[in-house]
Amino acid sequence: MADSLPQVRLYNSLTRRTEPLQPLQPGKVSIYACGSTVYKYAHIGNLRTYLFGDMLHRTLEYTGYEVRYVKNITDVGHMRNDDHDSLAGEDKVEQAAALEGKSPAEIADFYTDAWLEDEALLNILPVDVMPKATDHIPEMIALTERLLANGLAYDVDGTIYFDVSAFPAYGQLSGQRVDEMRAGHRVEVETDKRDPADFALWKRAREHRLMKWPSPWGDGFPGWHIECSAMSLKHLGERFDIHTGGIDLKFPHHEDEIAQSEGVLGHPVVSVWMHGEFLTLADAKMAKSSGNIIRVAELPDLGHEPLAFRYLALTAHYRSKLDFTADALHAAGSGLARLRRAAAGPGDAVDLTAEPMARHRARFADAVADDLATPKALATAHEVASAPDLTDAQRRTLLLDFDRVLGLSLDASVADDAPLPDGAAELIASRAAARAAKDFAASDALRDELAALGVEVRDTPDGQDVARRG
Ligand code: AMP
Ligand code: ZN
Repeated sequence: MADSLPQVRLYNSLTRRTEPLQPLQPGKVSIYACGSTVYKYAHIGNLRTYLFGDMLHRTLEYTGYEVRYVKNITDVGHMRNDDHDSLAGEDKVEQAAALEGKSPAEIADFYTDAWLEDEALLNILPVDVMPKATDHIPEMIALTERLLANGLAYDVDGTIYFDVSAFPAYGQLSGQRVDEMRAGHRVEVETDKRDPADFALWKRAREHRLMKWPSPWGDGFPGWHIECSAMSLKHLGERFDIHTGGIDLKFPHHEDEIAQSEGVLGHPVVSVWMHGEFLTLADAKMAKSSGNIIRVAELPDLGHEPLAFRYLALTAHYRSKLDFTADALHAAGSGLARLRRAAAGPGDAVDLTAEPMARHRARFADAVADDLATPKALATAHEVASAPDLTDAQRRTLLLDFDRVLGLSLDASVADDAPLPDGAAELIASRAAARAAKDFAASDALRDELAALGVEVRDTPDGQDVARRG
């Protein structure tokens, strides 16, 4: 799209404005995304956030940028219940290892592979580097030493805390004042920091802890936040363009990353901070810790392939909440099938720079460049699917060009499997929720209702297995 590139505009959580993208190096964009904590299967809420990162990646490439994309793997330091500074807190990976009778490394490898398989099913493009936190312990120790040297951290018995009172810009991303944060901290947490608003960079290892490393302050392990400072600075340098994550990471994770990285370097590191909103289930945040989750592998049980979920994610802007329902997934599956039908069939590629293609293409590019306005981009794709002024070959070429961003495999054939009977998808979704909530009476009743519709469900460790009875 050489000359007619639209100006990409992105909402920056730091300035709270939509701004034209001005990369540090012309034509190149560097991105750091906070990745998964690999102690359980990722759920489709987590994947919504990675889909948002993928849309950013694809949009930038579509509009002519060369992208360097780093997405990390959190395999140590993320504490249960987000008790980041409780000395008694349990590391999520270490706790899963104890529960499953495996080593922390086995847990991390298993769930990393599962996460990447889910990403592949959703056509999330691979990134350039996927650094693991446990491979960056020396870098984290070095940053912690520099923060101590700069007077921004203190040592309490082998645990090193960041001193927020020494960093006046603390709170700039989340818009909170330090005194408000103090008031919001829970008092019962066991900690020995000087101020409730301070946070741990490095923690002394308690007895029995498996994952620990020697440091100048004795055996210990890193805090979750220092990991992303260490990995982003190492793989993208002292200044980079975009940092992404889910909205819950804005505070404290990203606020703390800014304090650490800027506290070491003395200058801003990230130009644009971007945060994706939550996927909810029955209007509650889908969360690994609460168990109200659906996995990518369970989507076929709801009668749809994983890419129907990708389509569903694109129907909402990344900064809006999206509630997952069986009906919404069903509608997404139909929308996807419609685009695929329009893109089907033979037809030579046509020149996209000629009219009327150029006009459709410009509208599509303007939509995605406008802070990733995916609902508008999908609407443009549907207009193309039924535009009277296009031949089949033109329509097909345009849709396949849009698919470089949409990532919906629009060249796939449309499955003509018998659809589930009316109402079945909703019952299957309710049953998944009942099972997650361990409401077995409700789950049995729903199984009977499904059987009455001619749909048989079987429970497997990976979710429900659904079959039509002939
Ligand atoms: P975690 O594996 O818990 O470290 O989270 C990985 C990513 O998923 C982070 O960017 C979170 O902000 C994001 N995330 C967690 N829950 C949801 C949700 N329900 N909807 C969208 N993103 C989420
Ligand atoms: Zn992070």
